[in-house]
Amino acid sequence: MCGIIGIAGVNQVAPKLLDCLKRLEYRGYDSSGIAVTSGDGIERLRAVGRLSELESRMESKTPSGTTGIGHTRWATHGAPTVENAHPHISPQGTFCVVHNGIIENSEEIKKTLLQGDFFESQTDTEVFSHLLEKYYIGEPINAIAKALAVLKGAYAFGILCSDFPDVVFGASSGSPLVAIGCEEGGFISSDPCAVNEKIKSVYRISGGEICCVGKDRLLFFDPSGQAIEKKPESITCKMESMSKGQYPHFMLKEIYEQPRAVSDTVNSLVKMGSVFLPDVYLDDDFFRDELEKIVIVGCGSAYHTGLCVKNMLESMSGVTCNVEIASEFRYSQPVLNKNTLTVFISQSGETADTLACLRLAKHCGAKILSIVNVKGSVIATESENVIFTLAGREIAVATTKAYSAQLAALYSLAIYIGRIKGKLTSEQEEKLVSEMLLLPSKIEETLRETEALSKEIANDICRAQNIFFMGRLCDYATACEGALKLKEISYINAQCYPAGELKHGTISLVDEGTPVIAILGESRVFSKTLSNMCETEARGACVFAITDKAKETLLSQKHKTISVADTLSLFRPSLLVLPLQLLSYHTALLRGCDIDKPRNLAKSVTVE
Ligand code: GLU
Repeated sequence: MCGIIGIAGVNQVAPKLLDCLKRLEYRGYDSSGIAVTSGDGIERLRAVGRLSELESRMESKTPSGTTGIGHTRWATHGAPTVENAHPHISPQGTFCVVHNGIIENSEEIKKTLLQGDFFESQTDTEVFSHLLEKYYIGEPINAIAKALAVLKGAYAFGILCSDFPDVVFGASSGSPLVAIGCEEGGFISSDPCAVNEKIKSVYRISGGEICCVGKDRLLFFDPSGQAIEKKPESITCKMESMSKGQYPHFMLKEIYEQPRAVSDTVNSLVKMGSVFLPDVYLDDDFFRDELEKIVIVGCGSAYHTGLCVKNMLESMSGVTCNVEIASEFRYSQPVLNKNTLTVFISQSGETADTLACLRLAKHCGAKILSIVNVKGSVIATESENVIFTLAGREIAVATTKAYSAQLAALYSLAIYIGRIKGKLTSEQEEKLVSEMLLLPSKIEETLRETEALSKEIANDICRAQNIFFMGRLCDYATACEGALKLKEISYINAQCYPAGELKHGTISLVDEGTPVIAILGESRVFSKTLSNMCETEARGACVFAITDKAKETLLSQKHKTISVADTLSLFRPSLLVLPLQLLSYHTALLRGCDIDKPRNLAKSVTVE
């Protein structure tokens, strides 16, 4: 999950490393560090906490040299301390490494190959620096190949060798890493856009490959250390403004960017009242005659978008749609075949578990379709069929605009399948599409009209220790997203249940004053959820309702009720989630939390 940068041949490399790390900070931010080589060995600087800590340490002591590596960490093994911060150095100081991922057999390596070594950190990473030194006999590529051969797990490494102070080495298997040669010098990075916005082509390092970058050279090697040729890949880096503009937080800015994100996404998928998917190449025959099952795979909020459209996809396709959590699905021995459409949802396009599921589905011969926000990302590259969400770069860790854009992409997919399957007449499709095109303005209206009450309810709930969310059918999916958002950024324990399920145990936790947030968007089960709401209220709960304007009057005046704009029931999840985003934001604000960078989380989850 961390950010890796390596730079060779840039005058005074340390400030440039820091500059690139700032653009990588979204990937992990519990500690950071840099190391620079010069003819006199390797100099390291590390700090716990935000990058600003490293920056202030650099002000008093900037390592000097033209070649270096840097890292922002998201700890997996060992607490966020200076000793555990990367880069890690080998016992004699010959090698220094930064690492993204997990070395799953690090303890075993310590006990067998590195018996008797002293380790200064608790990380899994440090064994790699020791292994490099152990296998080094003057030739770094061979040492790297030998050390990599011992490792189990996923990794991307940036490596310095004190005997070769003009170059940086990189290696990767299962974690993103690219090598770049440009006028400024040679680079490796876990995100090409961290180098600069003008980068047009990169060399993706994967499958245990190794690279060596210098000012005027880029060399590539296979996992055994044999030199290989590699082809560059074209990319476009869109580093949208990193400024918060008029907003105090990126999250609030991104909440208000949702009309634009949904509008851009929908408009890229609609032509003359009909859905078309420009990067989907599956024949109509596949959908019409062969499709037997749809499986949607995602993590966190992406998983929730799948839950939101499950029923819509089933009614449009006439086949079963299962929604799966990627980290479970990958080990579940799923039944997939050429008649299965597997849909992978990931904002970053590099979520490790989702990527592993994609590869598994490919192996089983299933059809692959991905919904991603980052063009050129691994998931996009490895998918034959893609729907790009056009949310733009999302900086706040808690997703909002990418979530809304994913919903729009999924609705479009459902309509597309519905048309091919003959479940929708062209008039029906046109009606759905025109309502979908109205969503951006309804999102805008809902945000405008619900912020004040969301703020007021935030005030009511911000001191609670436990909050329950509930809903039925699609409302349950929205409730899950609301609970997740609240947990992520306000650190209040929020649990979500299908409304009818509470009385099967959980209701025993409801006490005098326990906040319960009920989502009542589904007309079919409105009265059922309403009864469940009353059941919690009878036990002392303080109930808040989220519904739409059409149903508002059916609720008693005594509940604080937030009403979103009216739309077709299929698209209601797009509006009901908005007050929940605002509620989480304002609750976190009242609790003094770090909204854009909540503790323990990172934006792009590239470890299992
Ligand atoms: N597993 C390594 C650690 O805990 C690297 C984590 C990361 O990807 O930042 O230090």
